[in-house]
Amino acid sequence: MDCPVCESPMKEVERYGVDIDICPECKGVWLDRGEIENIAAVELQPVWTIGVIKETFLEKLEKYI
Ligand SMILES: [Zn+2]
Repeated sequence: MDCPVCESPMKEVERYGVDIDICPECKGVWLDRGEIENIAAVELQPVWTIGVIKETFLEKLEKYI
């Protein structure tokens, strides 16, 4: 899959049992809705918004990029 923003080939990594597409060029992280819900369940942080989950993910995923 190519990045919807910069059209670079994306890198797929597995985290918490779900596949996440990461763009090495613009650091975009792409999840579908089902994946976000799976991650939220694993993290056990019910008050998190999707935006906060995404920010935390960017931090955690930096070492994979
Ligand atoms: Zn990109």
